[in-house]
Amino acid sequence: MDRGLIPEEIINRIRDRADIVEVISAHLSLSKTGQNFKGLCPFHAEKTPSFIVSPSRQMFHCFGCGEGGNIFTFLMKVEGSSFPTVVRNLGEKYGIRVEERSVSPEARQRAEQVDRLVELNKAAAEFFHKTLLKGQAASPARAYLKERGITPETIERFDIGYAPSSWDGALKALRSGGKQAKVGWTVEDLAAAGLIVARDQAGTKPGDASGYYDRFRGRVILPIRDLQKRVIGFGGRVLDDGVPKYLNSPETPLFRKGRALYGLEVAREGITREDQVVIVEGYFDAIALHQAGVTNVVATLGTALTSEHVEIIRRFTRRVVLLFDPDAAGVRAALRTLDLFLGSGLAVQVGSLPEGEDPDTFIRSRDPEAFTTLVRQAPSLLDFTVAGSLAIGLQGSVEDRVRCVEEVLALALLQKLSNPVEKAAALRHVADRLGMEEKVLVERYRQLTRNSPVADNGWSDASRGPVESAPLPKDEEVLVRLLLHGALASPMLALLAADDFTDSRARRLVALILERRDERGEGDWSR
Ligand SMILES: [Zn+2]
Repeated sequence: MDRGLIPEEIINRIRDRADIVEVISAHLSLSKTGQNFKGLCPFHAEKTPSFIVSPSRQMFHCFGCGEGGNIFTFLMKVEGSSFPTVVRNLGEKYGIRVEERSVSPEARQRAEQVDRLVELNKAAAEFFHKTLLKGQAASPARAYLKERGITPETIERFDIGYAPSSWDGALKALRSGGKQAKVGWTVEDLAAAGLIVARDQAGTKPGDASGYYDRFRGRVILPIRDLQKRVIGFGGRVLDDGVPKYLNSPETPLFRKGRALYGLEVAREGITREDQVVIVEGYFDAIALHQAGVTNVVATLGTALTSEHVEIIRRFTRRVVLLFDPDAAGVRAALRTLDLFLGSGLAVQVGSLPEGEDPDTFIRSRDPEAFTTLVRQAPSLLDFTVAGSLAIGLQGSVEDRVRCVEEVLALALLQKLSNPVEKAAALRHVADRLGMEEKVLVERYRQLTRNSPVADNGWSDASRGPVESAPLPKDEEVLVRLLLHGALASPMLALLAADDFTDSRARRLVALILERRDERGEGDWSR
């Protein structure tokens, strides 16, 4: 399929924009039934409708013949068109330009390479999985998973496997002549997929005459799949205390760690249903939570979250819960993600587990309800980082404390989730805990606020034009800014009235904001 030639981003935009009900209605008549629509299936002969279209999931399914899929697969099937044709037509209909990457020989070669990697990874995943289930050498791995409480159902759901500890298990099995090798993979294919590694020049590593050896040896294998359930790479975990504890596939044209989220293909339904995603750091954390019935969980692949991750998450939900350790490393990790999430329009909370526990051990020793409670009570990312920075700053030298103040203040002025009363209280609290005079702290805060690019946002437009040039009273200005950022929770908004403001400009703006808020039934102005 030529899918690789149309940028993924265009495909996603069309998927987001197009309405599956509208598109399918052009081919058959649909009637509403609850949240969904139904009609007579175009793919098999029937008298009573068993063809269901779900607008919320943007999917269709026929309970008669089992056909199902998304808007693209529907059109491909019903019109007999190719994927690029369908995408182009939909793009035209919805005013999204589909610019294919030029079909240069290089591009074509690249697309073919990706297709080949997909096939090879699939064969490799099958080999690892079969080895885990049946292989004699895999009995320590089976024992290991059993000890971790991983059930056979979970092994199937996540397609868990085992790489034998020999130097050429996968190499022999997948290469031409091996039992799995229907296609006849070359060592170059296997190396391109990162399944084997070239021997170093010294040639001291064992392996066969090919000069390569298996990358994954004696490890539980966790296939990493994309949303189309294609295996894009692998994670491997040792059974003992060996290092590295986790080993991932190298980056390939198919696999980029900064984009991949482990378990997303399994979690997407749970994420949509809960309208929330929980992000953990380890494969087994995600697996254990899923097994315990918490199904809206994904894991990063041992790397920091990236803006690409954020973009992917945004397609499913705007509510994110991160799990970090409440120690210094956790706070630093949270600080790093703060930049990433600020202005993303996502609501982010940080859940922290009791000391010495990870999600895996937590869920195994308690019922899922305990985890749900932990998530529900999780503080916002900002609260977590402010509290954490303070705790760390307090232990340090004078310089540390000053830096901590700067940090906390910088955070506070970016604060979109708090109200001025809370902010004032926080400043008092910070001053108190740092043993500084509040006056000094507040002055420093004002300086920082004045230079804040965020503070200009939204307000600058209103301050242009023929209005009074005197500045607003400071507290009113802060309130208006918070309103413009959609930062005030509904209970706070209910207490506000335009007449509370002394400045006529503020009154006009606030009246406008409150009016718009009522129409939309929400206080969020940031989108
Ligand atoms: Zn059907």
